[in-house]
Amino acid sequence: MSQDYAEAGQLDSRLPPIFERYRYEARYLVQILREVQDALGHLPAAALSAVARALCLPRARVEGVAGFYSFFHLTPVGRYRVLFSDNITDRMLGSGELIDRLCNKLWVERGKVSEDRLVSVDTTSCTGMCDQGPALLVNGRPLTRMSAERIDRISELIRKQAPLSDWPREYFLIEDNIRRYDELLGRQWPNGEALKAAVARGREAMLAEMKLSNLRGRGGAGFTTHIKWESARRAPCAGEAPARYVVCNADEGEPGTFKDRVLLSSYADLLFDGISIAGFTIGATLGLVYLRGEYAYLLPALNENLARRRRDGLLGTRVLGEDDFNFDIEIHLGVGAYVCGEETALLESLEGKRGVPRIRPPFPATEGYLGQPTVVNNVETLCKAALIAVNGGAWFAGLGTKQSTGTKLLSISGDVETPGIYEYPFGVSVAQVLNDCGAGNAQAVQVSGPSGTCLAMHEFSRRIAFEDVPTAGAFMVFGEHRDMFEVARNFAHFFAHESCGFCTPCRVGTSLVANCMDKIASGQGSQHDINEIFKIHRLLHAASHCGLGQSACNPLFDTLNKFRPAYERRLRSLAFKPAFDLDQALASARQMTGRDDPAAHFGLAAGLPGVEA
Ligand code: SF4
Repeated sequence: MSQDYAEAGQLDSRLPPIFERYRYEARYLVQILREVQDALGHLPAAALSAVARALCLPRARVEGVAGFYSFFHLTPVGRYRVLFSDNITDRMLGSGELIDRLCNKLWVERGKVSEDRLVSVDTTSCTGMCDQGPALLVNGRPLTRMSAERIDRISELIRKQAPLSDWPREYFLIEDNIRRYDELLGRQWPNGEALKAAVARGREAMLAEMKLSNLRGRGGAGFTTHIKWESARRAPCAGEAPARYVVCNADEGEPGTFKDRVLLSSYADLLFDGISIAGFTIGATLGLVYLRGEYAYLLPALNENLARRRRDGLLGTRVLGEDDFNFDIEIHLGVGAYVCGEETALLESLEGKRGVPRIRPPFPATEGYLGQPTVVNNVETLCKAALIAVNGGAWFAGLGTKQSTGTKLLSISGDVETPGIYEYPFGVSVAQVLNDCGAGNAQAVQVSGPSGTCLAMHEFSRRIAFEDVPTAGAFMVFGEHRDMFEVARNFAHFFAHESCGFCTPCRVGTSLVANCMDKIASGQGSQHDINEIFKIHRLLHAASHCGLGQSACNPLFDTLNKFRPAYERRLRSLAFKPAFDLDQALASARQMTGRDDPAAHFGLAAGLPGVEA
């Protein structure tokens, strides 16, 4: 305790400027902790106490938030913190061997800090660089196209304690890799052009154009955008500080997706126009961008862009000279929690809390950020809204298909000749996409990331559209030589790692599934484990609180149905029956506790709604 107070004394001079910058407001807790960690290297107990005191929050709340996000560290980490991207496409490019190589060179165990606290080496979920992997982060900065030679050089640089500014610049090169241009990517969008067009139309007319366009959300769920906007516009504001908000979901965490990275890098003017247009239309005063922590390197340029917009009269009071249009945008950084891609978890995080999804209804359009009407839209959706402001809803509705209007950006990676960003009108066939990106020997495509759909060769005539194969944008291609069991195992571990732990079916179920997959991989699995995976799949679907748990077994379900031999050749015996029945063994415990409802039956959950025995 005395050491805590001593540390607190030393910390005082560094922390107050951070608190002041965020006006001591608890809703900025996540951002404050992030900056405190940047200043101190990690979040020592004394710093958590100081933050709690300054923000007048219970210390348990601060500690709970600090412990939730994977990029927060409560204990010291290496001065060089190396995190390899662990997406399946990075693995296919040899990331596993590169991690071992770096660990051997630096004499550090994976997942540990070196004894001299110089370096730690670990993995993180996808870093959004699948088109130029293997990729890694060093102290939050992304490095791409890793090779054995580069890893050797990096180990030397770390040993010499060279600052990142002295490392070869080409290691930090991030390319857009735009391979197919259509209506969005095909032209430059001057700063403010779309916003001026929207203001010239007026609020009601802009809403009418949105309706005409039938734009649907590009984040995966495909909800009709104008309905969200109209609900938020009409919903009453509440409380002492009534307001409406626009939230841009830039937490692009689905493995295999990186299109938003390119929009944020090279089309930020269009995005900020889109956010401002949503703000103008619904009568909001503030837009918030929730930028995933892995894209923190984009923050300086984005903030510079916002400053320029303020100078140009595109943000601030009386935007474009309109008396009743006061609007600004601020950017919040995520800190490594995939679940925050879910819109209500994202709102919790923006409010300075753990990113646990809310119970819906109420929906964000009526009770969102700080309990006020809030539109939450994906980066690409807001860019599309800007296009509609310029060209009109009828023009937009003329692109794509009737139920899926406009174009869609695909992030293509894996076994293809030209990975990168491809923009297509909705309705394009999977076969066409594969042909364009040079995927000559594909046996499978994982569309929309691990929570999406795995298509086998006989399904390549299907179309990218909400009415056939919906997608948030990821398009991972697996050649004939790939082991689809290992693909599914990677996804199983991803979900087990990213479960937020709030509800038991997901917290326990995702770990059980990952364990089953490891057991099968080690040659110890049997038909019983396959049956268990199917049971847990049904349980997760029926009883999980949010989409993460509900979709966690999708890739296993798909690969089990479409690539079953990849599983069966690993099974110890297809006829194996377990000698031990855990459910039966727990019968006496159920009797003693007087509980015999379906949920008390381990693993089976027979009788739960939607779950078969
Ligand atoms: Fe958290 Fe998983 Fe439950 Fe969603 S389903 S709330 S991610 S534990």
